[in-house]
Formats: sequence, structure tokens, C-alpha cells
Amino acid sequence: MAKTVIIGGVAGGATAATRLRRNDEEMEILVLERGEYISYANCGLPYYIGGVIKHRSSLLLQTKEAMKKKYNIEVRTKHEVTEIIPEQKKIIVFDYAAKKTYEETYDQVIIATGSSPVKPPIPGIDGENIFTLWTVPDTDEISQFIEQSHVKKAAIIGGGFIGLEMAENLAMAGLDVTLIELENQVMTTLDYEMARILHKNLKKHKVECILSDGVKAFHHDEKKTTIELMSGKKTEVDIVILAMGVKPNSELAKKANIATNSRGGIVLDEYFKTSKEHIYAVGDVIEVEHAVTGEKTMIPLAGPANKQARMLADTLTGTPMKYKGTLGTSVAKLFDFHVATVGINEKYFIKQGKKKGVDYETALIVQKSHAGYYPGATALVLKMIFTKDGKILGAQVIGKEGVDKRMNTIATVIRLNGTITDLTELELAYAPPFSSAKDPVNMLGYVAGNICENKVSFISWEEVLQKLEKKQENFLLLDVTEEMEREQFQMEDAMWIPFSQIRQRYEELSKEKEICIYCAIGVRAYNIARMLKQKGYDNVKVIEGGSTFYQLAGYGNK
Ligand code: FAD
Repeated sequence: MAKTVIIGGVAGGATAATRLRRNDEEMEILVLERGEYISYANCGLPYYIGGVIKHRSSLLLQTKEAMKKKYNIEVRTKHEVTEIIPEQKKIIVFDYAAKKTYEETYDQVIIATGSSPVKPPIPGIDGENIFTLWTVPDTDEISQFIEQSHVKKAAIIGGGFIGLEMAENLAMAGLDVTLIELENQVMTTLDYEMARILHKNLKKHKVECILSDGVKAFHHDEKKTTIELMSGKKTEVDIVILAMGVKPNSELAKKANIATNSRGGIVLDEYFKTSKEHIYAVGDVIEVEHAVTGEKTMIPLAGPANKQARMLADTLTGTPMKYKGTLGTSVAKLFDFHVATVGINEKYFIKQGKKKGVDYETALIVQKSHAGYYPGATALVLKMIFTKDGKILGAQVIGKEGVDKRMNTIATVIRLNGTITDLTELELAYAPPFSSAKDPVNMLGYVAGNICENKVSFISWEEVLQKLEKKQENFLLLDVTEEMEREQFQMEDAMWIPFSQIRQRYEELSKEKEICIYCAIGVRAYNIARMLKQKGYDNVKVIEGGSTFYQLAGYGNK
């Protein structure tokens, strides 16, 4: 009877254990977890702090007693594995309750030790009002501190998805929140212009967002902490939440001479086997292959951890399952906006000095979340990165409704090696409350196709604003919205010819100029661009996302 020891009992560990049991009724399965809880909902922790999840018990998905009773799996909590000795197929365990060390033998080991929040050596970082959020006890400590210390002002350090979720939840709990981020944008998986939408939304919800600035030191006095930033700026708060990224818990692996990469991720073959026989690993602690670029990387997310664990359990019980890499599909909520990303972003290419239009293409469109004539439709912004021959490399979606389903559709197409043409051919469920007859994902495919066939050229607001600032002579900004729309939005420097008049008046436009057209979202501008192109206007561009994107991304705001 094979004995499998699993180190770590949350996402990857618990999934591996139960799948192993379903596949093999006879296997001896032992899960060792250094914390107090197994299989808890770490992704739900910010929402418990914010009061959205009301009951602490909702976070605890399994107990060790239930694991024994229901699955015949032995789980020992507060048992930390301190060493793996591959040569002797043995591990050393420390039992926190009994305060003693003991040994266990194994036939195979699964390392599912996850990752831990990064805590850089910044002066004052160990202050008692400075927390990281990773486990249930972390959550308890933060909640208690907020309640007992009558906390009013909080700072979140780091604008990744955990930082954003905490900013929202603390703001919803009535705290005055400042978010500090070293990069010039939050959520770095997004391209900058997309992140602008989140910056505006943070502001709208009264979260102060300090970008391009890092923490130099935390200065504590009796009641308050002053955060000193690199820029010299100072801000005084009652509580600090660090959300500065994670590092893999791979010390055990390193100690056992198991190969790890420069960031500490455990190096594996396609079947999750480490460099040592009979030792496997899954989850945040491993290095993965990026499913789009093929590069080795780290992608700490719950979905991949769970899937890897299930595949490994199948492999270990006789059905080899080869891992095809991680796409990094993710979604997060920031107040009323939802934001999702998959694959690579445009910055990835820019950093490599690659040229848009040559090495890659992008399409950024604004669509309605469902049919515009059915009440409640909201703007949905979709950006896609793809190659000229139609391979989809990544996408970003932001909006208030239907973000996740669009993202999941695109992620599925990427996973199945689909192309931009496949996006146009997808037959997606439609009725007015849910979508449009041509779903935003179909539209993304159509627009990408038009770009590849040189039917249309786009320009970003960023570039347009630069040209306006430089007062470039041969440049013309053309507004084709109707009179009523101009009460809501108009640009000072634009020439105005409404869509309804353009066929009569287009000759007012000079063929010598670069003409950049906007309407509300880009559809009318595209129609006009097509007409002008066929009338001999060679330098015509559609402004991405039109006035809706301009406003969503806060371009006019100082
Ligand atoms: P974990 O689930 O972290 O489990 C590892 C376990 O191993 C830990 O319990 C640890 O105590 C234990 N351990 C470590 N070392 C030892 C040892 N030596 N001996 C015994 N036990 C050990 N992901 C998403 O995809 N979507 C989200 O919305 C999302 N939200 C998140 C929100 C928060 C606040 C947090 C903290 C994470 C979130 N994640 C989210 C990330 C997701 O939770 C992780 O990617 C996932 O849990 C990783 O699974 P894992 O099994 O590798 O590690």
C-alpha cells in the first residue's frame, strides 16, 4: 500500500489528497499542515474583513475530522515539515502542540507549501499595526485590531489584486484608505491606459492612490504610524496592510537539494516531478511554463493550484496528465468595477522593444455589457493583444457587468489555440438582458480582423493628446457625434461634422492631414474611416474607445 505524504493542506494540498482518495481507496494519505486550518477560503479573506462575508465559519471549508471521516485521509494541523531527506525517503516533522520532532517515511511526497507575503527590510516594518493578509489568523488579527484600536485611517502598500480588494473592503468598512504603489499603475497585469479606469474608480470611492512612490520607512509613535515615502511625502495612518507580492515557500525543497529557479520556484517536469525521485510539487511554490510565451515563470493563483493538484493525483494513480502551462487568467472586483486579465499585455512587448503593427497588434474596444435598448447596460472595455496572423496572446476586460464571462470566453479560445477568426465564429448565448446578437467578444474578433486586413487603423487617446499638445499642423481631430451628444462631451480642439452629415460634407476635410476620428465608442468613427479611405483619404484613424473611453479612463481630469 503506497504512502503519500502531502505537505500543506489548503488549495493544492487538500485537492491532491481528496483526488488521490477518489482514485485509490487503499492509498495511505497523510496531510501535514503547519497552520491551524486546512482547506480554507483564502480568496475570501478580504471580504470577511470588509463584512461582506458575515460568518467566519464560511471561510473554513473542511476540518481534519471531516477529512478523516469522509475520505479516510489523516490530517495533522500545527505540524510543520522541517526537512525532507530524499535519500532515506523520510521527512522530519515538528508538532507544535506536543513541541516535539518526529519522523515519517513516505513512498511519495507532494510539496504544496504555497507562498508567503513579501515583507522587505523597510525600517519600522515590524510595527504592531502593520499586517499582511494570507491566513485565517492574519484575518482575525486585522479584524480585532480594527475593532479594538478604533482605526480610522488605513494604508495599503501594493496595488495588486489583494491590495485592491483590501482597499475596497476597508473603505466599505468605513475607513479612510490610502493605497501606495511603486509602479505608475495598479494591477500591473493591465496595460496603463486600462489601469487608468481603476485609478479613476479608486478616486471616485475616495481611496487616495499614490503611484510611482515607494515606502522609505515607517515611523511609529504611541498611536499613529507615519509612512515616509521615497518622494519625501508623508502620510499618517492607524493601520498598514502590506500587499507587496508573494514569495514561494520553497525552503524545504532547497534544503533537500531539490532544483529551484532564481525566484525560489521549484523546477519540475511536465508531470510535476521535482529533480528528486518520488518528490512532486504543485501550487504557488512551483515554477510554471507560461502558456502563451513558453517562458518559465511563477503564477500564484488558486485555479492553477487546484488543477495542478488534480492532475498530479491522476498521474500518481496511473493516468499520466501532462501540464500545458498557465495562462494567468484572473478576475478581481474593485467597488462597482470588475477587472480581468489573461495571457500577456502590451507592456510585455514594449519592454522588449517590439513594435506595434510589426511584431504584434492590439484592439481596444468599448461595447455595451448587454443590448443597449434593454435597461441597465453598462460600458465594457476590452483590449486584446494578438499577432498579425491572428494568434491571441492576451486580453484585458474592465466593466461593471459581464466581465468574467467575456474573459473566460477569450481565455478558453487561447487555451484551445484559437485565433481572432475563431472569436468571430463563436456562437454565444444571447438575449437582450445578457448580451447583444454580436457579443463583445465577437466584436473584438471583428475589429482584430479589420486591423489585420488593414481595413482600419486605430490611435490611442494618449497619442492624440500628445499630438494636440504639440499643436501638430497636419493633424485633425474630427468629432462625428450628434448635437445632443455634444452637450455631454466635446473636445475644444476638434472639428465637428456629425455622422448624419458626413457624406454631404466630407470634402471639407483635407487629404493632406492625419485625421483622427471619435464618436461615443468608435463604431460611427469606423464607418466614416472606411468611407474616407475609399474616397482617397490615406491617413485616417479611429480613436480607440471614443469619448466613452476618454471619460472612463479620466483623460480630461487633472
Ligand atoms: P496555499 O493554499 O497557500 O497552501 C499552502 C499551505 O502550506 C499553507 O496553509 C501553509 O501553512 C502550508 N505550509 C507551508 N509550509 C509548510 C510546511 N513546511 N509544513 C506544513 N505545512 C506547510 N487566487 C485566485 O486565483 N483568485 C483570488 O481571488 C485569490 N484571492 C486571494 C486572496 C487572498 C487574501 C490570498 C491570500 C490569496 C488569494 N489567491 C487568489 C491566491 C490563492 O489563494 C493561492 O494561489 C492558492 O491558495 C495557492 O495554493 P497552494 O496550495 O499552492 O498554497
